[in-house]
Amino acid sequence: MTSKVYCYHCMTYHHPEAMRKIQTSRGERWRCIRSIEAAQNHPDERDAFGERQSELNRAMARSSQEQRIFERRLHTLSC
Ligand SMILES: [Zn+2]
Repeated sequence: MTSKVYCYHCMTYHHPEAMRKIQTSRGERWRCIRSIEAAQNHPDERDAFGERQSELNRAMARSSQEQRIFERRLHTLSC
């Protein structure tokens, strides 16, 4: 029986050969190479969403006037 290593990304166990040790702020964690490569090639939806959100936040923070225009536009769309 092969002992498996817990993958913090998939929240499941993989074979140790498929794992890579990652240094995080909370210490060493094991993550599978497949998920690391997948994240590099295709950033997951959550990251892309966060990126759009922060961009939107920056745009909205630029001026309160712009924000009012933005809200009015949203209101027009919902009517
Ligand atoms: Zn994994």
